[in-house]
Amino acid sequence: MRFETRAIHDGQQPDPQTGAVIVPVYQTSTYQQDGLGVHRGYEYSRTGNPTRTALETAMASLEEGRFGLAFASGLAASAAVLTLFKSGDHIVVGDDLYGGSYRLFEKVFRKFGIDATYARIDDPASFKKQIRKNTKLVWVETPTNPLLKLVDLKALSAITQKTGVLLAVDNTFASPYLQKPLLSGADIVVHSTTKYIAGHSDIIGGALVVNDEKLYQELKFYQNATGAIPGPWDSWLVIRGLRTLSLRMREHSANALFLAKYLKGHPRVKKVIYPGLPSHPQHDLAKRQMNGFGGIVSIELHGGISAVEAFTKELKIFVLGESLGGVESLVTYPAKMSHGSVSREERYRRGITDEFLRISVGIEHKDDLKEDLKNALAAIQG
Ligand SMILES: *Cc1c(COP(=O)(O)O)cnc(C)c1O
Repeated sequence: MRFETRAIHDGQQPDPQTGAVIVPVYQTSTYQQDGLGVHRGYEYSRTGNPTRTALETAMASLEEGRFGLAFASGLAASAAVLTLFKSGDHIVVGDDLYGGSYRLFEKVFRKFGIDATYARIDDPASFKKQIRKNTKLVWVETPTNPLLKLVDLKALSAITQKTGVLLAVDNTFASPYLQKPLLSGADIVVHSTTKYIAGHSDIIGGALVVNDEKLYQELKFYQNATGAIPGPWDSWLVIRGLRTLSLRMREHSANALFLAKYLKGHPRVKKVIYPGLPSHPQHDLAKRQMNGFGGIVSIELHGGISAVEAFTKELKIFVLGESLGGVESLVTYPAKMSHGSVSREERYRRGITDEFLRISVGIEHKDDLKEDLKNALAAIQG
């Protein structure tokens, strides 16, 4: 079956007991056992819950992987991957990524002796150079947050497979509708389901999808042993969201391309980054690797912080706030929000200046969004 159909049916068969068409919210912590050591597949809801199982099955299906695991947040899912390793192990990370992932590697797992070094995300060969004897994992986002750089997943997985290193891809920005990293040779797909998968800015959640059964069993062990699982209500809301993922991603992508083109020609805008623009240095790779260019557009304004202040203050539809991937349009100021935990020096080294804004284009009418941006840009003095 095709993506749109799987999103609505996989893991979501009508309830065999009642015929309920929608997966029930199994709001229960525990399960009656039929005898000593005899149960019906569920014992305790940290270990397993039928609503969560439905979500995990659906996630695996969307990524065309064999096994899905749901977590309480994207970072809980990311932390679960890191628990596979031990002190003395080394990981290579793409050098543009979500600030919270960077914080997880630098401020949490480094303390436990897991050493992270950073490779140029848009150059697979730079990963190859950093792989050592004790390297266990390569971790990338593509497109990255917030610079929207891409890495050629097939080229990168050729390197990791040759060296026996696991490849984890944070697929939050693209969503499985636009890109399925397992099909390009990745071993682990990581999601913040908070974003496009749930899609309505109403839950925090995460997920992992893998093909290898041993890897799945290990991750499932940590999921249960450390316990960062989503409750049944949140799982249900993620399922409700992912059923419309294809429609939303098509609309997000179309609106984002429209606005990226508009912003590109605007005199107050210094720079527009969008993989769907021919001016993006990896536009050809985006066309090859992705089934659409996504809903995130990053820009730099002319005029420093005061321009950013005037612009964001004047926006009426775009909400100023953290996060992305919801149906409503949102503007994030990475310097103070998503990348607030990254030092100014490191931020500037990466190109995330004080004039840098990340726009999550929603699915409102494109002309209303354009007018909102137009008015706010007109409010910049200078
Ligand atoms: C938001 C985000 C995360 C973290 O997910 P949470 O659900 O907020 O824990 C990880 N990676 C990317 C790319 C994100 O955008």
